[in-house]
Amino acid sequence: MLKAAFPGSFDPPTLGHLNIIQRAASLFDELLVVVAENRQKKYLFSAAERVSMIEEMTGEIKNVSVAVCDSLIVDFLQKQDIKLLIRGVRGLNDFSYEFELSMMNKALDSRIETIFMTTDPEYFVLRSSSIKELASFQGNVSEMVPPLVAEALKAKYGKK
Ligand code: ADP
Repeated sequence: MLKAAFPGSFDPPTLGHLNIIQRAASLFDELLVVVAENRQKKYLFSAAERVSMIEEMTGEIKNVSVAVCDSLIVDFLQKQDIKLLIRGVRGLNDFSYEFELSMMNKALDSRIETIFMTTDPEYFVLRSSSIKELASFQGNVSEMVPPLVAEALKAKYGKK
């Protein structure tokens, strides 16, 4: 039974995240999407909101579930008995950051294997932070996030 985890902020989840989730879910028996809740960080959406958006987006994929992690990811993975960690990479910048992160996680727990999945070219410009900025100026994000996320962004930023 191959279980993998896909951790991230998902603030908000995008079509790029969904693409990685779909592809990872087809490779592993179970995929746990892990929503990070770091008290040092400011999020636009609460952990509960991020979880419910991801649950709605992935409702049709039977082997995907969603959880929140407010501790070190390696400790969380140990408790869940998961050794495979999936991360998406959009380009070299992502890769250098992700590479360091994977070294750190390996130092903390040598059993953790990080698997990098390259973005689908269609989604490589998608980044939650830019999408929030665009939405804050009432820009059109409908090609970047699922409709339910576009609606949630509209509700957060309101109409001018
Ligand atoms: P971000 O704020 O960078 O969009 P997250 O922390 O929510 O990211 O991302 C979780 C994981 O998803 C990270 O491994 C990130 O590199 C990956 N990811 C985010 N957007 C994409 C995308 N468009 N294509 C592939 N991977 C992505």
